[in-house]
Amino acid sequence: MADASVRPVKKKRTVLIVILTVLALLAALAAAAVLYDGRHAEITVIGPGDITLEYGESYADAGAKATSAGRLFGELDTRIDVYAYLPKDISELGEHEVKYFCSYLGRSYEAGRKVTVIDTVKPVLELEYSGDFNATVDKGFIEPGYSAYDAHDGDLTSRVIVNISGDMVYYSVSDSSGNNVFAQREILYAPTEPMIELIEGPEITVTAAISYEDPGFKAYDAKGNRVNELVTVEGEITPYLTGDYELTYTLDTGFGPPVVATRKVTVVAKDVPPSVAPAEKTIYLTFDDGPGPYTEQLLDILKKYNVKATFFVTAQNPDYLYLITREYNEGHGVAVHTYSHDIYSKDENNVYSSVEAYYSDFMRMRDIIYDKTGYYTDMFRFPGGSSNTLSRFNPGIMTTLTQAMPNMGFKAFDWNVSSGDAEGRRKPEQIRQNVIDGVQSVSYGYAVVLQHDIQDFSVEAVEDIIKWGLSNGYKFAALDMTAPRTPHAVFN
Ligand code: ZN
Repeated sequence: MADASVRPVKKKRTVLIVILTVLALLAALAAAAVLYDGRHAEITVIGPGDITLEYGESYADAGAKATSAGRLFGELDTRIDVYAYLPKDISELGEHEVKYFCSYLGRSYEAGRKVTVIDTVKPVLELEYSGDFNATVDKGFIEPGYSAYDAHDGDLTSRVIVNISGDMVYYSVSDSSGNNVFAQREILYAPTEPMIELIEGPEITVTAAISYEDPGFKAYDAKGNRVNELVTVEGEITPYLTGDYELTYTLDTGFGPPVVATRKVTVVAKDVPPSVAPAEKTIYLTFDDGPGPYTEQLLDILKKYNVKATFFVTAQNPDYLYLITREYNEGHGVAVHTYSHDIYSKDENNVYSSVEAYYSDFMRMRDIIYDKTGYYTDMFRFPGGSSNTLSRFNPGIMTTLTQAMPNMGFKAFDWNVSSGDAEGRRKPEQIRQNVIDGVQSVSYGYAVVLQHDIQDFSVEAVEDIIKWGLSNGYKFAALDMTAPRTPHAVFN
């Protein structure tokens, strides 16, 4: 029994020792694990580690973040506050360091970002302009002034270096970062006598046009002041007629004799494609004075036979102007006749009252054609033809216009067969007969037929004319810039 009472005591001690040993082992193991894990903070700089800024650009800090890291337990989701330190002079030129700090488990950590501020922008160097001259014979070069400014250094005018060499003045300046800028100007002596300088020189060539624009001149008095207002220009140029002209520029300053300069102006014609006779016997149907109430009917007939014609159009019937688009789209020639067709007034309303009046009426119609078709035609027919005598109230106007218009690049077309549809009301059969007789009488293989699509009886004759032409071996064609002009004699 004594043995039985001792045994349990012995057993208890053994258990206690085992427990304590296990606990000690566990503690040692835990300590070893913590030691091995080496828990610490890691700071990561957000964005680029090194930043270079141009002077004046502002620095925006992207910050940094810190994480808890260890070898055994890895990254832990622990919040660690990071504090940033931005140097006060971070916007100044040079190298700066932005620092980030944090503390964790009783230790502090640190990381940095290098910020370099540079200046590669050149200063601005400006020369003041003061008239055409900056030197006089007695005083030499007179500085008109300059200024220099730098974004970093501010006003650098006092540091500009000026060097005079020959007839040039050289300016240079550099900023504190060594950025250089240069400028120069020519020394220009003022005349000691009045002078006229002709812009573009004493001889110029211009293309024929409705008006002449002089390139201009610069006149100076003896002190070099601009005195253009003291110049009188004499001489006549007819800008639409080719030839040599002379202009005289006279400067009278009131002191000493006047200064005179002359300019020779040569007016040359624009190139116009030459006319070529068609290879086959050809009828060019042409219709003047439309579009009008019968134009649509005419277009239908032409379409039915796939015949191309030419329309010399006017704006007399504004409601029908839209048909110009159809004429053009269906492959017909569309050319200028006249805007107003006024060849009857005896005043400035008449298109033949002056070259300028004619040109302005012509251009008005040409612009309408452009508006309706998207193309600028250079083809036209004079109202009444180049042989008209209605214009005789203005003697010689047709002689001038028949030269001036081609000089300016436009091609005039007359006709060699008249349908007679402008001489009062006729039967369509009569118009048909007139055209057939006319076509048969022309000896040179092509007929340019004049009709008017504002005459119903004339339009009604067209189908028969086409049938006759086709069955007699004629080709129908629209006029173009190389087609025959069949010019009339000029009687005014
Ligand atoms: Zn007409």
